[in-house]
Amino acid sequence: MPWNRPLMIVLLAGLVAVTWWRLQPADGQIHRSQLLMGTVVEIMAGGRPTGQLEDAVDAAFAEMTRLDLLFSSYRPDSEVSRLSQSTRGGEVSAETAAVLALGLEVAQRSGGAFDLTLGRLKSLWGIDGDNPVVPDRQAIAAALAGIGPKALTLDGRQLSKQSGPLQIDLGGIAKGYAVDRAVAVLKEHGIASAAVNAGGDMYLLGQRPERPWRVGIQHPRNKDAVLETVQVDDRAVVTSGDYERFFEQDGQRYHHIFDPQSGFPARGCQSVTVIADSVALGDALATALFVLGPQAGLRLLDQYPGAEALIVAADGSLHASEGWTKYQVTP
Ligand code: AMP
Ligand code: MG
Repeated sequence: MPWNRPLMIVLLAGLVAVTWWRLQPADGQIHRSQLLMGTVVEIMAGGRPTGQLEDAVDAAFAEMTRLDLLFSSYRPDSEVSRLSQSTRGGEVSAETAAVLALGLEVAQRSGGAFDLTLGRLKSLWGIDGDNPVVPDRQAIAAALAGIGPKALTLDGRQLSKQSGPLQIDLGGIAKGYAVDRAVAVLKEHGIASAAVNAGGDMYLLGQRPERPWRVGIQHPRNKDAVLETVQVDDRAVVTSGDYERFFEQDGQRYHHIFDPQSGFPARGCQSVTVIADSVALGDALATALFVLGPQAGLRLLDQYPGAEALIVAADGSLHASEGWTKYQVTP
């Protein structure tokens, strides 16, 4: 993963700092961070004696480290890399099957805007590396060959690939799943108040002491400004943005969320924030809505009762789902 590159760390740290606006630790809370899954993961926990909090947070980080070894496309020995190398697929762990099942459902329902088979395209753009490039059209067409919502089928724990060289990339959903698992581990350790943030994929468990969690959503074009503040408990808050990983060439911004139809970065949005029951779902939906753009994105959200979204369109206009206002903190 690229997290050993100083520039990326600075960019991500900036993102995290702003996303965590107002999530400063209070008395009795502990706050820990680790570089994991290509981003800075932060956990804040409170409401129990410090020793118990430390043990719980250590166990939550260990769980995310374990999952990264399954899901990473950057580790040649991960389960996902093994699947990418295989020509037909194979049997997968229960956890990889759970992520694939949710991802494939969102892929179907989004008409292929969300796609788990964009690994070749992502490598071609080199978006996570030191030398990203705008590839030529022929290379893009080759990287898109055989991809799509029907390219992978899952039957229980058996994954079948329809076209041999498909590279699987769980980058749009795996972090969210890992945060869900970290929260489950915290709960197993008796923690009832915590916040976990993996570079914009967040879960807010319970309440902070004496007041609910509040999350500031970063303005996509002004990293020091908060676009909106939401108040949530026991919910995921996930943001996908074109400011997370990008490069510029000839005045054009090229970022890391691709439209599978064109093979180019999706152009409809600057950022999408989804509030959902689980971080995995919020993660997949935020990426899917980003690709679909505001109108089609909000239509997809209708299929997910309980999920709400705030979309900043490419022109800067705001588009919120009907239930969004119940989370808004009135100024
Ligand atoms: P996120 O920050 O959750 O929106 O995820 C962005 C990451 O998801 C990228 O770095 C890619 O690994 C992957 N990705 C890019 N485009 C798509 C897409 N259309 N569908 C699913 N995953 C994608
Ligand atoms: Mg996502």
